[in-house]
Amino acid sequence: MKPSLKQAGDGVGWRFDNSYVRLPESLYAQLNPVPVRMPRLVMLNHALAESLGLNSSALSETEAAFLFSGNVLPDAAEPIAQAYAGHQFGNFTMLGDGRAILLGEHLTPAGERFDIQLKGSGQTLFSRRGDGRAALAPMLREYIISEAMYALNIPTTRSLAVVTTGESVMRDTPLPGAILTRVAASHIRVGTFEYAAKMVGIEGVKTLADYAIQRHYPALHEAENPYLALLNKVIERQASLVAKWLLVGFIHGVMNTDNMTISGETIDYGPCAFMDAYDTNTVFSSIDHHGRYSYNNQPHAAQWNLARFAETLLPLLDPVQEKAVALAEEAIHCFPAIFQSQLMGGMRKKLGLFTEEAEDIQLIETLLAWMQQQHVDYTNSFRALASEYPPTDAEFLDEAFVEWHAQWQVRLSRQPQSKDSSFRLMQANNPAILPRNHRVEEALAAASERDDYSLMQRLLAALANPYADVPEYRDYRTPPAPSERVYQTFCGT
Ligand code: AMP
Ligand code: MG
Repeated sequence: MKPSLKQAGDGVGWRFDNSYVRLPESLYAQLNPVPVRMPRLVMLNHALAESLGLNSSALSETEAAFLFSGNVLPDAAEPIAQAYAGHQFGNFTMLGDGRAILLGEHLTPAGERFDIQLKGSGQTLFSRRGDGRAALAPMLREYIISEAMYALNIPTTRSLAVVTTGESVMRDTPLPGAILTRVAASHIRVGTFEYAAKMVGIEGVKTLADYAIQRHYPALHEAENPYLALLNKVIERQASLVAKWLLVGFIHGVMNTDNMTISGETIDYGPCAFMDAYDTNTVFSSIDHHGRYSYNNQPHAAQWNLARFAETLLPLLDPVQEKAVALAEEAIHCFPAIFQSQLMGGMRKKLGLFTEEAEDIQLIETLLAWMQQQHVDYTNSFRALASEYPPTDAEFLDEAFVEWHAQWQVRLSRQPQSKDSSFRLMQANNPAILPRNHRVEEALAAASERDDYSLMQRLLAALANPYADVPEYRDYRTPPAPSERVYQTFCGT
């Protein structure tokens, strides 16, 4: 039975205030999600709903299924597909939401503004040759990884619900279709600016920049040059974000400019994965043939993307072109130093260092070089250091490691803080549990092929406290056996 509009909208606590639709119409297309045949709710993130001020228990499963499939719209929704462009693997392309609909912006009781977007909600003006739909496993994958990132304190879009559609999507084989409800500080991307610059011109870029400042960095209105301040802020946020990725071994996989937000949140969990054995050249994405977005290339990719962002802002930075270019270049050239300082700050915490010494870089690099050479497990090796006793597993008996460990002990003893406080710092910065790909794949297969969500629920429960070493969840700490290793991951198709 189809619930009425009233049933789906009322009691949930939506407070829509849709500011993006007040922007020039060239930046989006107004259209509704395409209804699906038989929506069924398979995931609902009650904790996230609560933090948004939504009362998810006011909804029956059927109502939730209709709401999070887009078959029924909340009263105040003003659905749009956003226009954007992007550099994909270096090549400029016109894109846009080809399979997503932004329902609107929800205001939390604290006054925070979040986009509520349905992904997999049918064709739009921007679908090109795509079917506008999404398969279940990739939507569940986004749910798992984005929620894991959130628990790791890494800025990210989040996942509120997954609904299966009762329709199949045709990929290499027919797959169950699904829709993910994504929650984001906004969906403004570097690619949105590229679109505005190309299709609307500098007035469009200015409108978008003013909007982005108002929405994400309102204090910058006061800056002497607000657009330069915006550029610097986005550089800072992205440098910090990518450093956080590297600190936990995360590989995004498709760092195209359309997948880089102005807010600094991680977005678009396609072929992403966490690395098991430490190898800085790791690539998972099946479409990344040249390693453009490998683990170690991520800061370079981010800087390249930010240069594309800066180009769109040039006429706003200064009326004199050479001066604008000089300002943009100076800002972009700061990226490596900001990134390095964020990375080093995080690495110091991973090693229990409260104080800063110039030789810390060498200490960290020696450890990483050893890890690279030995291909030891990245997560477990750092976590093993966060203990009162030296690690005893076979790989740590290696002479090079023993020497490094002694140096590190001397370094620790040079700081005034106690060893105990160092261990606590390390335990809070070296996760025990990450969504290792073989366990993610196992949970996705159970859900998508056998309609068994118990593995996914257990994995999510473990990932909610990644820094706690709970005995019940120790199995998630085991790296994949050679036969379980996942070498390739695929785009969210
Ligand atoms: P992504 O690789 O997910 O960042 O997607 C890149 C672009 O392709 C975006 O504009 C998407 O909206 C679009 N896209 C991806 N899959 C589909 C699909 N099945 N149907 C229509 N558009 C799609
Ligand atoms: Mg994308």
